[in-house]
Amino acid sequence: MKFIRVALDVPLDTLFDYSVAEPVAVGQRVRVSFRRKACLGIVLAVVESSDLPPEKIKPVLAVLSDVPPLPADLLRLLRFCSEYYQHPLGMTVLSALPARLRSTTPLTVKPSVYYGLTPSGLALDLTAFPKRRALQLRILNYLNNQQLTKESLRGISASAPAAIKELIDSGWVETKSAEAITPNTESSLAALSANDLPDQKLALFNPDNPLGKLEHREPFVVSLSNQERPFDPLRANGVKANGLFRFNAVHVLTQAQQAVVAAVDAALGFRCFLLHGITGSGKTEVYVHLMWQILQQGKQVLLLVPEINLTPQLEHYFHTRFPDTELASLHSGLNDGERAKKWLRAQAGQARIVLGTRLSVFTPLPHLGLILVDEEHDASFKQQDGLRYSARDVAIFRANQCGVPIVLGSATPSLESYFNAQSGRYQLLKLTQRASAQAQLPQVRCVNIKQVPLTDGLSAELLAAISERLLRQEQSLIFINRRGYAPVLMCTACGWVSNCTHCAGKLVLHLPERRLRCHHCGDQQRVPRACPSCGNADLQPVGTGTQRIEETLQAQFPQARILRVDRDSTRNKNAWQTMRQQIEANAVDILIGTQMLAKGHDFPNLTLVGVVNPDGALYSADFRASERLFAQLAQVSGRAGRADKAGEVLLQTAFPEHPLYRALRAHDYDLWVKTLLSEREQAGFPPFVFQLLLRAEGLQEHEVYAFLQHARAAAVQLAFEVEIYGVVAASLPKRANYLRAQLLIQSQSRKVLQQFLRAWRPYLAQIPAKKLRWSLDIDPLEF
Ligand code: ADP
Ligand code: ZN
Ligand code: ZN
Repeated sequence: MKFIRVALDVPLDTLFDYSVAEPVAVGQRVRVSFRRKACLGIVLAVVESSDLPPEKIKPVLAVLSDVPPLPADLLRLLRFCSEYYQHPLGMTVLSALPARLRSTTPLTVKPSVYYGLTPSGLALDLTAFPKRRALQLRILNYLNNQQLTKESLRGISASAPAAIKELIDSGWVETKSAEAITPNTESSLAALSANDLPDQKLALFNPDNPLGKLEHREPFVVSLSNQERPFDPLRANGVKANGLFRFNAVHVLTQAQQAVVAAVDAALGFRCFLLHGITGSGKTEVYVHLMWQILQQGKQVLLLVPEINLTPQLEHYFHTRFPDTELASLHSGLNDGERAKKWLRAQAGQARIVLGTRLSVFTPLPHLGLILVDEEHDASFKQQDGLRYSARDVAIFRANQCGVPIVLGSATPSLESYFNAQSGRYQLLKLTQRASAQAQLPQVRCVNIKQVPLTDGLSAELLAAISERLLRQEQSLIFINRRGYAPVLMCTACGWVSNCTHCAGKLVLHLPERRLRCHHCGDQQRVPRACPSCGNADLQPVGTGTQRIEETLQAQFPQARILRVDRDSTRNKNAWQTMRQQIEANAVDILIGTQMLAKGHDFPNLTLVGVVNPDGALYSADFRASERLFAQLAQVSGRAGRADKAGEVLLQTAFPEHPLYRALRAHDYDLWVKTLLSEREQAGFPPFVFQLLLRAEGLQEHEVYAFLQHARAAAVQLAFEVEIYGVVAASLPKRANYLRAQLLIQSQSRKVLQQFLRAWRPYLAQIPAKKLRWSLDIDPLEF
């Protein structure tokens, strides 16, 4: 009989002992009974004896051997997170697992079914196959080169399943089962199944090297569907499917790109690089080359990306660049089963590229060779509840733990990273030019809204610029970071405004839906016909949101095809994909969007970006607001003029001489960062100090404050070298009826802050807080 110490998903800082008769390993999943319920746990230790009295120790209900145990390095990473972020170990471990592996029912991985040719199918002479059975012929053609899964079959045509049934009945095709098929195969087939790839993208040669280095010096003759043209192997690579290749343009690296690749390649063991490359400088191309080196060594790459709708595009992109490499893309669109399956492929070392949002930093990777964090400054890397970790910071810790290099990439690095690069902790790598020779940075100009009249929030200059684009059949993007029609509805007679009754915020007017909605608590109601306070019927929307801009522009340009992209218009699952295709197909003239549109998208025909109402962040109480604004505006400006067309950015602001806008006009991030850093240094804010925030919320204000005052008194009494602020209301003092307040503590030393935290934490646990919710946030990003 042995004892195991088990991590459970309960808010207690301990592990739980159980007895076990059968062999069991650390990292294995077990089913145990806890508070009379069956729970899933992870074994963190196997020991000979327990400190508990024998009668208190229950036997495990079952040891699950359906999946391999979690590897030791991952458990070590999770222990670190639990300590650093002061989150119970059990909850930390469980929150890193895919949901499916958190369940107590054993996982049964259904073997994928795929179709292949039978010997008689292989012997068929397809040139003699009846032409009228076109779909069957197409399927047979595929099967001559690849296997087809059920999913990829459906990609060929809706009637493909019926057609394959006939082929099976004829004895030419059979079903087989396999552990898994590399997703690459499926995606490339899906791409081809449309049968309508642009003709110049189909070719019949094999550029074995996905980087398109010179394997073949002669230009190729490419057989196209119905014509032939010479093909330059330096400029393309492809995905093989059905003997054909789908091409991507591949570039010869610029010298600057080469220097970056060489620097990272030269790293032996852990090293953190900050790749500061302006938008369009070719960071993605650099990632591809770095990955290629690592993959050639048989190792795995982890690529972390922000929580935006870009993952499918990136997945497709890396598939085409690495056609023979299994890639696991982990994003919010996956169902539990798919996620677990990909996690297991990574753990088995089969998935060699793991691409995902913040949670994927916890994917088990036995052969990890490199971590890439794209858009490292993005706030979505920080989890805002539960285990409040920063995936970027955890990734750095993980790289260190595994002794591998890590590259943080951004056009606008976070101040923290930039500071670390300046002080030499990280190695700074720069790409200061756009990669493609024709692509110029856009011209950025400010329109002073104090000096010109506005039509529903838009200046004549911006309207003229849009109308010019319409004439030239180019696209414009109007960026406004506020969804809805107007941020508030107001009574012109008595001054009533649409406050949320549950929050300290306003109800936002959503005109098409005829609703007032709270963006904090989700509460909504119909737009009142008259003022609820005085009965006046004249209620006016105040301020501007995406819907209002849409209405205004539609009135100004009745012929224009306008598309609004915000969280409301993209609520349906595939809405955004469809919209993106519309934009790419030039079926849209004017785009109106929130930050969703700012990131990473490459729309070659977009030449104008108009920015409306960005000033709020300049004087926000949140000291990070202006840092974020600059990043957003630099990103969104980067959307203009990506290809061979020059771009223009028009910023409507009341403060054109603010250092932020000046730096933006000059495309001078370094100048901006200098300003910000000196401000932060004077104010004693990060990155010059490290912070932690204790938040509390409750229905009774005095209870919330009493708790925090208690906590503060305990902190003061501990007498560490930390700076303890006063208890203050949160920036949103009330949300969903809960009153919210917080206590900020900071130190110039991360180590001291951690030591303080460990001493302070036990006091917190003792303060009576029955009706309160409280949490610690280490390195908080939001206040
Ligand atoms: P970033 O991620 O830095 O914004 P991308 O990697 O998306 O930049 O590259 C921007 C554009 O430049 C893309 O269209 C890409 O194909 C092109 N590009 C990248 N590297 C090169 C190069 N070495 N030569 C020419 N064009 C390049
Ligand atoms: Zn009124
Ligand atoms: Zn509310």
